[in-house]
Amino acid sequence: MNQTNFESLGIGGKFLRALKDVGYIQPTPIQAQAIPHLLQGKDLLGVAQTGTGKTAAFALPLLQRLDDEKSPAKPKRPRALILAPTRELALQIHGEFTVFGRYTKLRHSFIFGGVGQNPQVKALARGLDVVVATPGRLLDLAAQRHIDLSEVSILVLDEADRLLDMGFVHDVKRIVSQTSQDRQTLLFSATMPKAVSLLARDILNDPIRVDVSPEEMTLKEIDQRVVMVGNGDKQRVLEHLLHGDEVSRAIVFTRTKHGANRVARKLENAGIVAETIHGNKSQNARQRALQNFKNGDAWVLVATDIAARGIDIDNVSHVINYELPHEPESYVHRIGRTGRAGATGVAYSLVDPSERSRLRAVERLIKHSPVEVVVKIPPRDPAETAVYEESRENRRAASSRDGSDNSNRSGGQRIRSSGRSSSNQSYGGQRRSRRRRGQRAA
Ligand code: AMP
Repeated sequence: MNQTNFESLGIGGKFLRALKDVGYIQPTPIQAQAIPHLLQGKDLLGVAQTGTGKTAAFALPLLQRLDDEKSPAKPKRPRALILAPTRELALQIHGEFTVFGRYTKLRHSFIFGGVGQNPQVKALARGLDVVVATPGRLLDLAAQRHIDLSEVSILVLDEADRLLDMGFVHDVKRIVSQTSQDRQTLLFSATMPKAVSLLARDILNDPIRVDVSPEEMTLKEIDQRVVMVGNGDKQRVLEHLLHGDEVSRAIVFTRTKHGANRVARKLENAGIVAETIHGNKSQNARQRALQNFKNGDAWVLVATDIAARGIDIDNVSHVINYELPHEPESYVHRIGRTGRAGATGVAYSLVDPSERSRLRAVERLIKHSPVEVVVKIPPRDPAETAVYEESRENRRAASSRDGSDNSNRSGGQRIRSSGRSSSNQSYGGQRRSRRRRGQRAA
């Protein structure tokens, strides 16, 4: 492990004080590698996802360089711009600037859509050193001449792959072209698809490359498990997993916004307090949901990929992929919401027969096969519940006798679900009770 500290990387007194306040003692690998170069004004291409400490890696040297310039903030003309794909990420970055800049006189704020523009316009008119923005609103305000980017001498593109995925490529290029020619440019991306490397080639000048790949960082700290589920059984498997003792705080990922609403509604019906976060929700509703999840009023958050991007919440014990994502890279992002800053976490993926090819794609990307576990769900019917409880007790007794428990943590050994027969056995009760409900409804 590296033995450097922030002072030896070149970070100065007022920032060391702020670091001490938040208890960061040792730089993370990306901080150790990036900070000295960034302080010298070098461009940087960072292959890193959230959870690696990349925000502090760019925020600290950026603030220090601006602070050293000792020039007062000018109305409408920020000196640094951070572009982020989502409002949540913009707010989070802004939060870190608040923390690290607290002993300076530097002024910073955020610009994003979904809320009224007036407070943002007023803040710009008063003068800001640093602006953290999403592309759409930023271009709106630039078109209305509330902001002039020509003096932006430090530009950061955060989560560039997601910016491009979300269709912001032209917006990003327009924004970059309005900034100063002699700027320092930093580009961070969790993945490096061709579109991102082309953009990087266009806008970076002889960059330092820092690569903190997910394999090194997050994945090894996360216990990844796959549960093969029959068609239509996901919700019950999910509820069963969430009721498990080991789950203290969980994020459940769905592919669609409607899916997120549906899953959360059913969880509530099952007595599990869940919040949802997705792109159809207003900014206020998203913030409220996040807050309730952070402060523990809800211990389950159901999210889509885009809304969850960059969310930084500590102590998420479990990530559950209700559905596997279209892009295997998103799997890495999702499970990175647990196991943050060195903590361990568990990631389950519920895979039905139609998703097997998606699972193969994930396995190819991460060069590893998550452990397959069998989850036996209790039947809904009270009579069947008693039988289930009894068989669960038997399983417990058996597992304490032979020291193994197939339905739980599997210590790296691959556990085969016994295919059809096991799944029939696991879910037969449910199928029976569903038939009965159907009969009642008919
Ligand atoms: P990021 O990759 O910027 O989203 O950061 C991930 C998490 O790591 C955040 O919760 C930070 O507060 C935390 N963090 C960043 N740098 C350090 C550090 N040097 N020591 C301890 N925690 C850190």
